[in-house]
Amino acid sequence: MPTPPTDSFHRKIDYLRLSITDRCNLRCVYCMPEEGVAKLDHSEMLSYEEIVRLARIAISMGISKVRITGGEPLVRKDALSLCESIASLPGIASLTLTTNGVLLSDFAEGLFKAGIARVNISLDTLKPERFLRIARKDLFSRVWAGIMAADRAGFSPVKLNTVVMAGVNDDEIEDLARLTFDYPFHVRFIEFMPFQQRDYDSLFIPAFEILERLRRIAPLEKVTVSESNGPALHYGFKGAKGKIGIISPVSDHFCPNCNRLRLTADGKLRSCLFSVDETDLFQLLRRGASDDEICAAMVAAINSKPEKHHLSSAVFRKCISRPMFSIGG
Ligand code: SAM
Ligand code: SF4
Repeated sequence: MPTPPTDSFHRKIDYLRLSITDRCNLRCVYCMPEEGVAKLDHSEMLSYEEIVRLARIAISMGISKVRITGGEPLVRKDALSLCESIASLPGIASLTLTTNGVLLSDFAEGLFKAGIARVNISLDTLKPERFLRIARKDLFSRVWAGIMAADRAGFSPVKLNTVVMAGVNDDEIEDLARLTFDYPFHVRFIEFMPFQQRDYDSLFIPAFEILERLRRIAPLEKVTVSESNGPALHYGFKGAKGKIGIISPVSDHFCPNCNRLRLTADGKLRSCLFSVDETDLFQLLRRGASDDEICAAMVAAINSKPEKHHLSSAVFRKCISRPMFSIGG
């Protein structure tokens, strides 16, 4: 297997997040406006052949871990066959998927068989009426059924991602964490990031406060997790089947250990979630570029990866160029 490339700050870059669509069947308040979302035309989106080609080139460079995301990846037609194609690329170490879970009951078994190693499912609440307020669709029961289907299909661990917002769902931190006593899930609490900026400061809860609330349930021990690929800090309650993850993109820079690249559904390569810089691989592909040219463009993007983001700066927040569903979270 090739050695992963390193960037200018000696970080090993071995992880690619592939957004395969900007479409979504939910409208989460922190991610997407309710109406008037400008959608990419199909002619502006990478085809599956192009996505697989870019994944193959990235893997040949040593970027061996791939996550499929969106928008909601499972709404794109034939998402399963794309997963199969990427999973069978020589040299891939792990293929994972992030989903809102709405369609997971139908897909979980197929995804497992297709070679998806793990799924992350967004779950901000256990209350159906609150789900409707946050995701703007009355689909909690479908998501819960999807989570159960993922568990039955054999995904291990099933990871649940909760974006914590003050006065919206922070009163459920404890209940969501308690799921780890009953299920072998990893429940991961994510700091709210300023993509849909309205009332941002009053909604934000820093990771240390989330941790404080968790410690009220029972003593929390720090644990290590073998399949971890990213910035979560892991904890566990004594006797629990599952684990707790805390992801603090805002209050704590995990930039020194960042190993990721992102490819948007319209073929723009981003070396930082919060940067405004993008490398246009779409144009290169459509101009008939060779694998070597594409590889060189990827290397240039890696070399220009910024040392860190400036997300806590109010000035920078105004500069976030794309919403989360369009970048691929
Ligand atoms: N639709 C899929 C889903 O919801 O899991 C995949 C795409 S979504 C953009 C990926 C992740 O980004 C989700 O876990 C979501 O909660 C997270 N996310 C979106 N907007 C966010 C924000 N403003 N702050 C923190 N996390 C956010
Ligand atoms: Fe859709 Fe995921 Fe964004 Fe929610 S977080 S609107 S499910 S892309």
